[in-house]
Amino acid sequence: MKQSRLFTKTRKEAPADEVSKNAQLLIRAGYVHKEMAGVYSYLSLGIRVLEKIEKIVREEMNSIGGQEIRMATLHPSEPWKQTGAWDSVDVVFKILSRTEKEYTVGQSEEEIVTPIVQEYALSYKDLPLAVYQIGQKYRDELRAKSGIMRGREFSMKDMYSFHESQEDFDLFYNRAKEAYFRVYERCGLVAKATEASGGSFTKKLSYEFMVLTDAGEDDILYCDTCSYCANVEITKENEGDACTRCDGSGKLMRAKASEVGNIFDLGTKYTNDFNFTYKDKEGNEKYPIMGCFGIGITRLMGVSVEAFSDEKGIVWPESIAPFRIHLVELSGGDTELKDEADGLYNTLKEAGVEVLYDDRDVRAGEKFNDSDLLGLPHRIVVSKKTKEEGKFEVVERKTGEVAFLTEEELYQKFLNRNE
Ligand code: ATP
Ligand code: MG
Repeated sequence: MKQSRLFTKTRKEAPADEVSKNAQLLIRAGYVHKEMAGVYSYLSLGIRVLEKIEKIVREEMNSIGGQEIRMATLHPSEPWKQTGAWDSVDVVFKILSRTEKEYTVGQSEEEIVTPIVQEYALSYKDLPLAVYQIGQKYRDELRAKSGIMRGREFSMKDMYSFHESQEDFDLFYNRAKEAYFRVYERCGLVAKATEASGGSFTKKLSYEFMVLTDAGEDDILYCDTCSYCANVEITKENEGDACTRCDGSGKLMRAKASEVGNIFDLGTKYTNDFNFTYKDKEGNEKYPIMGCFGIGITRLMGVSVEAFSDEKGIVWPESIAPFRIHLVELSGGDTELKDEADGLYNTLKEAGVEVLYDDRDVRAGEKFNDSDLLGLPHRIVVSKKTKEEGKFEVVERKTGEVAFLTEEELYQKFLNRNE
């Protein structure tokens, strides 16, 4: 992609009412556009990041047998009244049409997925089953000051699974937990799983996946030795306590964290509500056990910016960066130099390397500032100086490390990678 053709441009200032670091940086760098508190549009660079995250999530959900679907986001009110959520869930938006019919927009989709699956899963032979989608969710959140980490409109992966027995559910639940850890790791983040009470609709256990960040809205206690972690809201333990899960040498530390996903055992709450039964081996009608599994896609992007940024801008991990390389030419009108940079751009592009090529006719300082703000992992500079030395300058955004590579070394670094 040539930067001269890139739809967005960097901006000096974020909107005055934007207090979160993630949205400030993303707005200034042109990844997102703020519509109102908690509502953002994703622009061409932003979409590329979301698509990277979605691809990782899709691969991991498919790997445990999830099948992708796309459910409606405009919902009739009836199923929401049937489960009680219309009145009991405070974040449900309620829309009145001009014919006085009531609708809502998806804030989670148990009310839609359960009746769909009910039409197809008639016998034990149809179970287990897991379907998921990636799409927009709408919640009437009271506070929306965390940028894209807490939206009133946001993107979520929500998966729903249906099982014959608790044992079968537990098996899938554990596989999903492992898949979740792989998702976060592939996004470059370290997540901890807290065991939490499943909230209003079930007393069963659930896991919340937390990434430590000062921008998070949750307070957690975690063991400095083992993987134990708990939400401060639910646990009776205190900071400094000895950990009861490991050999006792661990101490509980307190930190701010952001919930980037969670998985719930829903039991038969929804299958009961919709009177969804299947025939078991003996021909008896049974209610399937259900699980739901959420990952905040846009929240993950926001948490990444909080975790990976410095005073100059964003520092994307390679796996979710919109482009891998920022090629910056400083030809200053020298056509030979410009041709050389064009040639390198074409070679990299043809080899399938994702490159953003800063071919704009602007000052070097502006190019470097923008490059730091955008945060692509590797910067290749083509300038008079590099040409004289017969080498290209390669700067790592994360470490600031500079290397001078010959053309061959450059291709070796960026083309011959088995990933
Ligand atoms: P929170 O406690 O942060 O409000 P939640 O318990 O309401 O989260 P779920 O309903 O389980 O969350 O949604 C699944 C995932 O979707 C969460 O783990 C989080 O990553 C993400 N998420 C939830 N609410 C929002 C929001 N308002 N904006 C962005 N992401 C969200
Ligand atoms: Mg919530």
